Amino acid sequence: MIELRTPAEVEAMRPAGRFVAEVLATLRDDARVGTNLLALDQRAHEMIRRAGAESCYIDYHPSFGASPFGKVLCTSINDAVLHGLPFDYALRDGDLVSLDFAAAVDGWVADSAVSFVVGTPRDEDLALIDTTQRALSAAIDAAQTGRRIGDISAAVAAVARADGYLINTDFGGHGVGRTMHGDPHVPNDGKAGRGYPLRAGLVLALEPWFLASTDRLITDPDGWTLRSADGSRGAHSEHTVAITEDGLIVLTDRSFLGVD
Ligand code: MG
Repeated sequence: MIELRTPAEVEAMRPAGRFVAEVLATLRDDARVGTNLLALDQRAHEMIRRAGAESCYIDYHPSFGASPFGKVLCTSINDAVLHGLPFDYALRDGDLVSLDFAAAVDGWVADSAVSFVVGTPRDEDLALIDTTQRALSAAIDAAQTGRRIGDISAAVAAVARADGYLINTDFGGHGVGRTMHGDPHVPNDGKAGRGYPLRAGLVLALEPWFLASTDRLITDPDGWTLRSADGSRGAHSEHTVAITEDGLIVLTDRSFLGVD
């Protein structure tokens, strides 16, 4: 069921968006060569506790999960791209890091992800990250009243195709509200002009992610982490946005913190 939020509810979602933005900005700053993934998770955990927020991940146990996630942050490194379960690993020079974080504040959820390289970047990794960021910008531009979900999907896919990447539609964007995953699904590929009409009050997580040279994923033995089938690297950019009568609000925007 697709739920539309009142303007007052959208306002009430702002603190969650700001909190998620602050956590990702902090973790991005913390993540250096030598930083352990468990330390990043711990830092996020502390910020949740201090803010009185609630993790969306720690008890998350969908049908495909072997057990509850048990951490508050997804850390996907290099050929891992989604749902990366933090483990005892110190970041190395040139690692491509994707952090995905969702939390609830005052009962409202926000969900956001960022990819970046620690240490010395490879050009192809920066290009892949740049494509996911431009695909997210295109999705945001397409998220307007009077248009449809398919317009967002088509906008994302056009950016990926122009840059020569394949697209996997098994995992994509989704409605966000009192829980992390709601209707509608927002695939990263689709037909313009099709699908659910975009209306004021719709709150969506938009999340382009691409792999360098495949569209196939394999699940890690940890039961969570999704890796590229061919070992190529992945990147992921995500924001939670609210469509309103007065235009789009990027609830998880980090620019007020001086980071992208
Ligand atoms: Mg997310």
